[in-house]
Amino acid sequence: MARINDHYLKLKAGYLFTEIARRVKSFQAAHPEAKIIRLGIGDVTQPLAPAVVRGLHAAVDEMASTETFRGYGPEPGYDFLTELIATSDYRERGIAMSPDEIFVSDGGKSDSANIQEIFAPDCVVAVMDPVYPVYVDSNVMAGRAGALDEAGRYSDFLYLPCTADNGFQPALPSRHVDLIYLCYPNNPTGAVMTRETLARWIDYARRERAVILYDAAYEAYVREAGVPRSIYEVAGAREVAIEFRSFSKTAGFTGTRCAFTVVPKDLHGRSGAGESVSLNALWLRRQSTKFNGVPYIVQRAAAAVYTEEGRRQVRGQIDYYMDNAAIIRAGVEAVGLTAYGGRNAPYIWVKTPRGVSSWEFFDKLLTEAHVVGTPGAGFGPSGEGYFRLTAFGRRDQTEEAVDRIKKRLTL
Ligand SMILES: *Cc1c(COP(=O)(O)O)cnc(C)c1O
Repeated sequence: MARINDHYLKLKAGYLFTEIARRVKSFQAAHPEAKIIRLGIGDVTQPLAPAVVRGLHAAVDEMASTETFRGYGPEPGYDFLTELIATSDYRERGIAMSPDEIFVSDGGKSDSANIQEIFAPDCVVAVMDPVYPVYVDSNVMAGRAGALDEAGRYSDFLYLPCTADNGFQPALPSRHVDLIYLCYPNNPTGAVMTRETLARWIDYARRERAVILYDAAYEAYVREAGVPRSIYEVAGAREVAIEFRSFSKTAGFTGTRCAFTVVPKDLHGRSGAGESVSLNALWLRRQSTKFNGVPYIVQRAAAAVYTEEGRRQVRGQIDYYMDNAAIIRAGVEAVGLTAYGGRNAPYIWVKTPRGVSSWEFFDKLLTEAHVVGTPGAGFGPSGEGYFRLTAFGRRDQTEEAVDRIKKRLTL
């Protein structure tokens, strides 16, 4: 028998969503008449914008004729898309960016999981707690985790607790780390990081020669002026940060698949021999070896997001979700709960009442209001005592869920 990668055995079981499904199923079996509303999923529900669908159709037609048919495309993405991204998402907002710093991909999930491959196995990793599990699990698989303790933390990671006490903006590491995963606007807490705090992280990374892996999948949800949408809005970031972005939450591409990662040419790592090595060159090498590009038709669909019509339609979708977020936040606050997020992110992070664990609150909401959310503890030990509701549902269901919370939830 071939020897397996033993690091996989250190992964925690995919417990969270299977356990939620199990509890929902058993409740539904006992109460077949209950109309359960799911405010737990992190997936969008609105269809692709008409401009995007039109771009997709036109590209499909191109594929149907010999003159315009496309086979393999450039691994980092077609120029028409990388140029649009560099211009529309960065240069027009006053951020220097070159198209060859943009790498188009099939997802922020795969990129944020794969990026660690270009770094040494003994790099020290810092992750937020609570956290999007991809950053943690990909580093567990790569052997950077050490042993798992009772509380659910790995011995070799540095955890950055994000709680109401620190405004969900973690303190700087008290020791040296090499790789820092930050996600803002945050999933699951819905928090944003201020420019001042981000500047302190960039200072830390420059001092420690660390790399910040900045997940900006929710940048389009930022509403308040002055909140950074890109880490490169802050001076010095080009030398220390990689940024992940995605069309998934921005334009409803969760099932269509298109994202991009920015690796500035000013960003370098160090080889074993002590030489400075371009991370842009390494990531290009990695992608061109292991990835064959996003389908042409999907890149055309992504390009359509940047047309005037596309922008307007996509903004309308985000407005729709953010109106849901406001409805949810106002609703839970009206029953006396403390809520965070939902202002620059599609997530509302609810504090459970004193002494009620996040799984107890899950059961309470399910049995009393027939509403499903996600227990904060599922995102990490510091998520205990919190509960995530998402704004990605349909309006009528969101309103109905809030109505039930107001009428039926006993606190
Ligand atoms: C949804 C999400 C993404 C985007 O993932 P895709 O693979 O592009 O669909 C990235 N990061 C976080 C934190 C997310 O919640």
